[in-house]
Amino acid sequence: MADPVADRDVLIVGTGFAGLGMAIRLRQEGLEGFELIEQAHEVGGVWRDNHYPGAACDIESHLYSFSFDPNPDWTRTYAPQREILAYLRRCADKHGLRERITFGSALTAARFDQAEGRWTVTTSDGRVRRPRILISAAGHALTQPVIPDLPGLDTFGGPSFHSARWDDSQPLDGKRVAVVGTGASAIQIVPAIAPRVSQLLVFQRTPPWVMPREERDIPEEERDRFRRWPALQRAVRARQWLWHEATAIGFVRRPGLLRLAERRVRRFLEESVPDPALRDKVTPRYALGCKRILLSNDYYPALGQDHVEVITERLAAVRPGALVTADGQAHAVDAIVWATGFEAADAVPRFEVYGRGGVSLREAWRGGIEAYLGTAVAGFPNLFLLVGPNVGLGHSSMIYMIESQVEYVLDAIRTVRGRGLRLVEVRREVEAAYNRELQQRLARTIWQTGGCASWYQNKDGKNTTLWPGFTFEFRRRTRRFDEAHYLVE
Ligand code: NAP
Repeated sequence: MADPVADRDVLIVGTGFAGLGMAIRLRQEGLEGFELIEQAHEVGGVWRDNHYPGAACDIESHLYSFSFDPNPDWTRTYAPQREILAYLRRCADKHGLRERITFGSALTAARFDQAEGRWTVTTSDGRVRRPRILISAAGHALTQPVIPDLPGLDTFGGPSFHSARWDDSQPLDGKRVAVVGTGASAIQIVPAIAPRVSQLLVFQRTPPWVMPREERDIPEEERDRFRRWPALQRAVRARQWLWHEATAIGFVRRPGLLRLAERRVRRFLEESVPDPALRDKVTPRYALGCKRILLSNDYYPALGQDHVEVITERLAAVRPGALVTADGQAHAVDAIVWATGFEAADAVPRFEVYGRGGVSLREAWRGGIEAYLGTAVAGFPNLFLLVGPNVGLGHSSMIYMIESQVEYVLDAIRTVRGRGLRLVEVRREVEAAYNRELQQRLARTIWQTGGCASWYQNKDGKNTTLWPGFTFEFRRRTRRFDEAHYLVE
């Protein structure tokens, strides 16, 4: 009897931008025989999960969307979360992907069978699949929320949730609310909830650099022009991409250039925060660009309101109805929003992946996560990661990087199918040389020299998340699946 899964030889895990993008391109190239699994009950990845008040993109939407599926209907230059999620849902529908997705199915373990050249994949719904190629688009960074393990955390008694797990059943209106953290999520949440709460305590450990956001509505006439002349939208996208690309020089080559920009950003801070005591609290003491630069026009004004207070004392404990700081003071609140970020630089997949010889990815990555082109890992044949190690950006759109990886994996699949290969596995020495080069280049970047600690770095200070160059260089290096870099059988 024919193998019932032989024609489904590509399994994609996750249906965010990366998983959907991969599936759309497979379909467009006529490479059928793929399926997707999704642990949730809807597509969208981080844009499904991060539905906190104020959630929006911080890269222009024409650039933060698929080049092969432009959306002329964006209503804002930086689209709100609900529009981005609606876009991803439309992409899934338009390309007929839903029939290929098994929802409510979380990958529990994947084990590579060397003799067969196939993965045995088990999922939470009890199914077993045997794909030849496994593509993890499950989000390696920024998907696993972290709440600090403070003494007494369980005793709080009121609503207490992470920004990426916003609890809509717990209205914050009229309440005394604590927001812990001042990263990209917090600076969107604080101005969005400030008008609704009676008191807002913002617990800040390190102040972010915040720049103004040049945002506006996109009027119907402009959207109509994009519908009629798609080339116009492509031109706008290209201009945005070029602008972001130019800024890479400051991040990765000439950190000194960012010092010029820092003066302007400091002026924005001074103009936005007239109160000297508050200004002193929120002034960063590290170089602009070291942590992610945040964009907001309403964060500083929100902090300046009478019922909003920035607390810089370290958090020490949680008590029933209060957060306690290191100076022993108890700050009474009704609800806590933990905008405290995610596992990132040390993030290993939540599921177990066993490669050649039964070695798990967790073990292989004990000394730090790394991959070749953020995509392939030695010892793990026929496994491809999307948004794997050192693919993130500090300066431009992740969708561009995802598309580069997707094209690379497409080429790998063409090669495996075309040549009837049982397995492809990146050569260990190729992966090692690539990572040596990355780390040498990273050492000169603002992220490593700017005098801050960030989620870009792991516990040893190694940057395992960012790509240290222009995005076009990554595009060039992923243009073709080069068999010479791989062991093939
Ligand atoms: P984040 O940038 O990691 O920020 C976490 C915040 O929590 C930081 O201010 C951190 O302080 C603070 N924190 C962590 N542990 C703490 C503790 N024990 N006590 C007090 N404060 C603590 O996380 P995020 O804001 O969720 O953003 C993560 C990334 O997601 C962003 O950089 C961005 O790439 C992406 N994102 C994008 C958007 C968008 O607009 N498209 C929106 C949200 C998120 P320290 O700085 O001292 O560590």
